[in-house]
Amino acid sequence: MQARIDQLHPFGTRLAEFASTRVIVPLAVLVGVSLLFSVFAIYRSVHLQEALQREAEARAVTQGVRTIARALTNEVRDYAWWDDAVHHLVLEPDADWADANVGRYIYQSFGYDLSLVLDEHDRSIFGQVEGTSDPDAARDRLGPELPLLIAELDGHDRATAFAVLHGMDGLYATAAATIVPEAGSPLTVAAGGHRTLVFAERLAEEFLTDLGTDFGLAGLNFHAEPADPTRPAAVLPSLTGTAAAYIQWTPADTGRAQLFLMLPGLLGTILFCGIAALLIHARDRVYREIRESEARFRDISQTATDWIWETDPELRLTFVSDACQRSLELNPEELVGRPLHELLRPQHGSTTEARDVAELAAVGPFAHAVYRAQAGSGEDHVLRVAGKAVWRDGALLGYRGIATDVTAEIGALEQARFLAHHDALTGLPNRVLLQDRLDEAAARCRRRGIPAAVLCLDLDGFKEINDTLGHTAGDLLLVRCGERLRGCVRGGDTVARQGGDEFAILQTDIERPADVEMLCRRIVEAVALPFDLDGPAAQVTVSIGVAVMPEDGDDAARLLQQADLALYRAKSGGRNQYCFYEAAMDRQLRERRQAETDLRAALVHGGLQLLYQPQVDCVSGALVGVEALLRWRHPVRGMLPPAEIIPLAEETGAIHALGAWVLRTAFADGTRWGELHVSVNVSPVQFRQADFVATVAGALADSGLAPRRLELEVTEGLLVHDNGTALAVLAELKALGVRITMDDFGTGYSSLAYLHRFPFDKIKIDRSFIRQLGGRPNTQAIVRAMVQLGRSLAVPICAEGVETPGQLAHLRAEGCMEAQGFLFAHPVPAGDVADLVAGWRAEDVGKPLRLLTANGAEHSAA
Ligand code: C2E
Ligand code: CA
Ligand code: CA
Repeated sequence: MQARIDQLHPFGTRLAEFASTRVIVPLAVLVGVSLLFSVFAIYRSVHLQEALQREAEARAVTQGVRTIARALTNEVRDYAWWDDAVHHLVLEPDADWADANVGRYIYQSFGYDLSLVLDEHDRSIFGQVEGTSDPDAARDRLGPELPLLIAELDGHDRATAFAVLHGMDGLYATAAATIVPEAGSPLTVAAGGHRTLVFAERLAEEFLTDLGTDFGLAGLNFHAEPADPTRPAAVLPSLTGTAAAYIQWTPADTGRAQLFLMLPGLLGTILFCGIAALLIHARDRVYREIRESEARFRDISQTATDWIWETDPELRLTFVSDACQRSLELNPEELVGRPLHELLRPQHGSTTEARDVAELAAVGPFAHAVYRAQAGSGEDHVLRVAGKAVWRDGALLGYRGIATDVTAEIGALEQARFLAHHDALTGLPNRVLLQDRLDEAAARCRRRGIPAAVLCLDLDGFKEINDTLGHTAGDLLLVRCGERLRGCVRGGDTVARQGGDEFAILQTDIERPADVEMLCRRIVEAVALPFDLDGPAAQVTVSIGVAVMPEDGDDAARLLQQADLALYRAKSGGRNQYCFYEAAMDRQLRERRQAETDLRAALVHGGLQLLYQPQVDCVSGALVGVEALLRWRHPVRGMLPPAEIIPLAEETGAIHALGAWVLRTAFADGTRWGELHVSVNVSPVQFRQADFVATVAGALADSGLAPRRLELEVTEGLLVHDNGTALAVLAELKALGVRITMDDFGTGYSSLAYLHRFPFDKIKIDRSFIRQLGGRPNTQAIVRAMVQLGRSLAVPICAEGVETPGQLAHLRAEGCMEAQGFLFAHPVPAGDVADLVAGWRAEDVGKPLRLLTANGAEHSAA
């Protein structure tokens, strides 16, 4: 799959690799640094430019001042070092000449505002101001600094001086020169008679305007000190060496202009870089997403069982993903080029049956189309297919989709559906399905009067087989039994398993009433045959209860109940038989329900009673204990024996309350009888109750009866189905100090085995053995064996149901230690026990004994 994606973007992927952050970041840093550098360079260059500009401007201003200085100095020299000037200004002063040559003329030709001739005493002998002759005004106009300028000349021949003077009405560029003859002139000026010529030009607004125009400067003005330090200033030379004044101007902003010129380019570059970075970032993200989606796709296609297919417009496969190999064991490369329908065959009966992919995709993307495909192994697989047509620029490129192998899912679904209606062990229909079929049969019966029978079956003796041969054998027996039952019925009938060892049959093809009975007989016979359970053969029988429609009604649920009631009768009637439902059974059921209600009422309101029957020491005849025996004084039915009470209580659950009542009553009574033992019978159902030990301990504590005086009588039925729990409870009871007696010994299957599993404190031989004592010869041998067994285990033996002195004699002869029976006393109410104890005379016990001694002696003699 990787290869395929690479084919799709061969260049793109590599570019994506290249455009990784490892390249992008340094590149961005480089661009950033060079941008910064450019900005800095531009800033520097603008700054430099500005400095240069200012320098040039300052030079220009200085140049302007120097130009005027040079012009003034040149002019004043030209006129001062001239023979005519010596002649007319020094030797023979001539005002007209002066006015025409260095007065008005100067003003008019050169525009100098002021000219002046000073004598050797610095007195003004000639002067004009702006074309008007006035020597004093001219001199005054130049202010107090004029003498200093003249002093510069220091009376030298051929000297000139220049300075900007603070005149009366402003600054004056002033040049002065000593009036001397031309070189090689015959004229001479007497020493100390030198005169000076002065030309001055007022530096006014006009001067600044001209300066601004000539050098392209704006905002020019004079200042005594540079007022604005940010503005450039040029110095006007003075006589003292310090500045006479400053000219300031507004510098031209060439740097800023240049900046404005470059700024758009710079901003454009920054913008371009930003956009480029964004584009690269976006592209990077797109490629990262592509890479992630590739990885995702790769992971999915490598792990999922779903596979991807693509075809051309003619539905010929152009691509099949690798997962196809896992799912169908077909090589994807070999499939390319083959028609899609060769691989995916439409599944008939599915929701989108028998339609090809093109037809489905014509409507839009589709899912849940079901197809079949033959796997490499030849096995048929079921596939759920989703797909769509692929278009580009209005042209059909082909089809593309995903196939999911749902074979197992569908198999499981079918299995689940089957299990929901069938029993997992036998495969027979279960309760649910039976109920459905019963409802159908009942409906048929209601509409058209078609008869049907419901049979409830219960195996007799199944529990024993399960317990002795194990669950595997038990399960096998149920399976075989189910098979036999199926063999007994006709095709239309239903054999169902209700649970445990209970089955049910719905018989529908009934032609004559006798058909039902014949089926029952067939079943009883068939089940009774021995089963081969892969080893030991086993035998069970079956009890059947039958209800028939329409005779017994046409309500399915009710029929099942009736058949169950009949089954109860069949079982209680001796098993291995069938029994039809009769209306009388309903009455019995009602009676039973009534009895149950009565029993619960008796538990609350009284009516139950305990009788006590003495237990006697065989040798001394002494009274050693009493056994509590239950009676129920029923308001209608009179005094009822335990056989009428205990099973009812066990079946209805009342046994727990009843058992607790017996324990408390017996303990309370027992405390009044000195050291007599009190024996209490415990039902297995009562015994298995979780809090039984606690109940006993609580009753003991409440009554104050010493635990060693209590004997609990249990039957082996308790231990038959036990997995160790009952033994543990017995041990707990023993730990309380209570004694445990095994009751009815010899009536069960494996009493002997149980004797070894728990250290009982007493064994009671069942009265059926005692009754036959002296009658059947081998009974005596059995009793002897039991007594000897007790002796070897060091467990005392008690014989029940001793009615005759002869029986007692036999027991004494065998060495039996205790006895109980009508011979000694019938069970008596609690109130009579005290009298019984008081009037008990061991020798009385011996009386009938003596009568029989001869017999016994005869026996022992025989
Ligand atoms: P069991 O434990 O074998 O009790 C002795 C039964 O034999 C008593 O019958 C008693 O009346 C009877 N019996 C005593 N001596 C003789 C005799 O010489 N000859 C004959 N034929 N019978 C004799 P009962 O009272 O009808 O009790 C029947 C069974 O009911 C008891 O048999 C015992 O298993 C059970 N049972 C009695 N009381 C209770 C009880 O409170 N709880 C439970 N769970 N079972 C009880
Ligand atoms: Ca008993
Ligand atoms: Ca007994």
